[in-house]
Amino acid sequence: MFDGPFGASIVSRAARDGLVDITTHQLRDYTKDRHRTVDDEPYGGGAGMVMKPAPLADAVGDLKKQAADAGEAEPHVILMSPQGRRLDQAIISHLSAHESLILVCGRYEGVDERFIEACVDVEISIGDYVISGGEPAAIVLVDALTRLIPGALGSEDSAPSDSFAPGLDGRLQGPVYTRPAEWDGRAVPEILLSGDRARLEQWRKEQSETRTRQRRPDLAGPETPETRSKDRSE
Ligand code: SAH
Repeated sequence: MFDGPFGASIVSRAARDGLVDITTHQLRDYTKDRHRTVDDEPYGGGAGMVMKPAPLADAVGDLKKQAADAGEAEPHVILMSPQGRRLDQAIISHLSAHESLILVCGRYEGVDERFIEACVDVEISIGDYVISGGEPAAIVLVDALTRLIPGALGSEDSAPSDSFAPGLDGRLQGPVYTRPAEWDGRAVPEILLSGDRARLEQWRKEQSETRTRQRRPDLAGPETPETRSKDRSE
């Protein structure tokens, strides 16, 4: 599941350049029975299977030991879970301060609660919906974290002007356009062709503010009489 996303684009380039080191681990390697069992039936009955605590804890323990032996900081352990804190740019930037992270991906009905109590530092959700395994959620988290590493983005991408970035005070980015100047009877806003950098900066800021107030009022700052009249003229 990881080869595609981690073998392409920004994440693979960052790995190639030694900016990030991503390793996947096979949980079955940490089982002790012949069938390499990682799940079992839930106590108390009910549908689905539950991931056993021991292989998970042994895996986390082994990775922590490897880090300690290599003289690295203790990894921060994250469980991907729909019951976790809902991921946003602030959490990403907080997590990016850690030198090393272990992302645990659940399957089936989830993981035995005792593993969470004993080994997990934080549970992270990618949104209020359920997916079948933690892997796509981990891929989202790794991508978002990698973008923040200095040097990971090429000139064709630019984090400071992205939505939610500090450069935009956490707001949404405004609309973007490319050639041709007219397409399907629609012209790009005239200001983009004017070459007036100061006015352009101002325009981008206004677009970002307007868009954020319209689509995500929860992210917009307080309204002022000035922004109110601007919104009405849109
Ligand atoms: N029975 C659980 C859902 C299990 S889904 C419940 O009701 O809460 C199986 C696995 O997919 C989870 O263990 C988790 O690792 C992953 N997963 C599902 N939805 C997720 C989400 N929104 N964010 C992060 N991980 C998720």
